Amino acid sequence: MPLPSYNRVKILATAGPACQDPAILRRLILAGVDVLRLNLSHGTWDDHRHFIEAVRRLNLELGTRVALLVDLQGPKMRVGRLEAPLNVRPGDEIYFSTHSLAGLTDLPVVPVEYETLARDVSPGDVVLVEDGRVQLEVLETDRKGTVKLRVRAGDRIASRKGINLPGRPISLPTLSEKDWEDLLEAARAQVDWVAVSFVRTPRDIQEVRAFLRRLGAPMRIMAKIERPEALHNLEAIVAESDGVMVARGDLGVEIPLEQVPFWQKRIVSTCNRLGKPVVVATQMLESMIHQPTPTRAEVTDVANAVLDGADAVMLSGETSVGAFPIETVRQMQSILQEAEKDPRIYRLPGRPDPASPTYHSDAVCWTACTLASEVEAKALVGLTYSGYTAFQLARWRPHTDIFIFTPNPRILNGLNLLWGVRAYYYRRHESTYYTIQDTLHILRDMGHVNRGDTVIITVSMPLRARLRTNTLYIAQVP
Ligand code: PGA
Ligand code: MN
Repeated sequence: MPLPSYNRVKILATAGPACQDPAILRRLILAGVDVLRLNLSHGTWDDHRHFIEAVRRLNLELGTRVALLVDLQGPKMRVGRLEAPLNVRPGDEIYFSTHSLAGLTDLPVVPVEYETLARDVSPGDVVLVEDGRVQLEVLETDRKGTVKLRVRAGDRIASRKGINLPGRPISLPTLSEKDWEDLLEAARAQVDWVAVSFVRTPRDIQEVRAFLRRLGAPMRIMAKIERPEALHNLEAIVAESDGVMVARGDLGVEIPLEQVPFWQKRIVSTCNRLGKPVVVATQMLESMIHQPTPTRAEVTDVANAVLDGADAVMLSGETSVGAFPIETVRQMQSILQEAEKDPRIYRLPGRPDPASPTYHSDAVCWTACTLASEVEAKALVGLTYSGYTAFQLARWRPHTDIFIFTPNPRILNGLNLLWGVRAYYYRRHESTYYTIQDTLHILRDMGHVNRGDTVIITVSMPLRARLRTNTLYIAQVP
């Protein structure tokens, strides 16, 4: 059986019609996809469940741990259903309205799904449709549901396209009613990660966490940074989240596009410093939606994201609707493989934070990474129930391969998003010593280590108590 390729920097791919066929999905996984993203802005739960089941079957067949990430739509403001796209020209005046204006005006009326639009804008504001394809200026608003606008640039407005008010606060809640329902479905389907779109404050993440806790769902929460408010609250949002996405698509509309590269670096380094996995997303290999080869600029962008310190990179349209999904993942995988030769991406500076409530176990993990370099260990092994150790080992970017063993099946696949981490299900022995010996045998039998190799193991003693990691062990493979 062909083995999936293995990168330290992980690949997220977005599901869609282009990879609906399980045979394609299988090839995407073999080419290097580590996490499949279900974009809830599109499709039905029947579509999503199709992918969830397909990934689970493929994981069983291939012995992979591909994780599932449900990406909530968020308060996306959209154009409603139009019979046909509306052709526009600069200078045209049109209405946006949440309700029908039949008989009230001769100007074109575009239905919008955005209840508070008329209250969120003032005359002179800029409104963008389809990430800026059409630019409009607000002329007047009735502050109820209707806004009159003048077209400044652009050609056509089509159904279901996103609406942005660059830099303007919006009064919609971060999670819509649909999002809460989707969150419930995601918890029922036992996916591994949920991404919260258009996060503004750490409270947004806290509310999702409280909801999931009430459901008893151990899903990890990713904050998508794509609004100016999130940039103001960056530290607090990163601290509250299990992971972060640099969502360059919407971010590039909400703030001046030329600021995006610098915010990318700031967001990534904040995540690196606080030990949170971070994904760089959107338009990474965009031209491969239509072409079998990427541009020089795209390849450079992916490599630079890795050098910035990303844990993972994401593909959107490239795998969901593109003509070359497999070629794209292969291309991504080879860029990552090359970038991983650069010594700058390893051994991040910094030390565990003495003020953290988990300081002792953080310090054990940090020491494990340091020790692994010192003795040139072949593998770092973490035995964990909560998965926390995996995050702590990955954050320091050791040269040494990271193998996580856990008896907790619910967290297993979610760890596949983490930099360098490979996770295995393992029901441990009563004795710590035998458990450690057993994991060494397993790694040897899989060919990851050889007799005589040095291995560093972190574990919590006593095993049964499920305490935080408190023990560091250095062993030679028997
Ligand atoms: P989206 O998020 O694809 O769900 O919009 C990513 C982004 O905005 O970059
Ligand atoms: Mn977005």
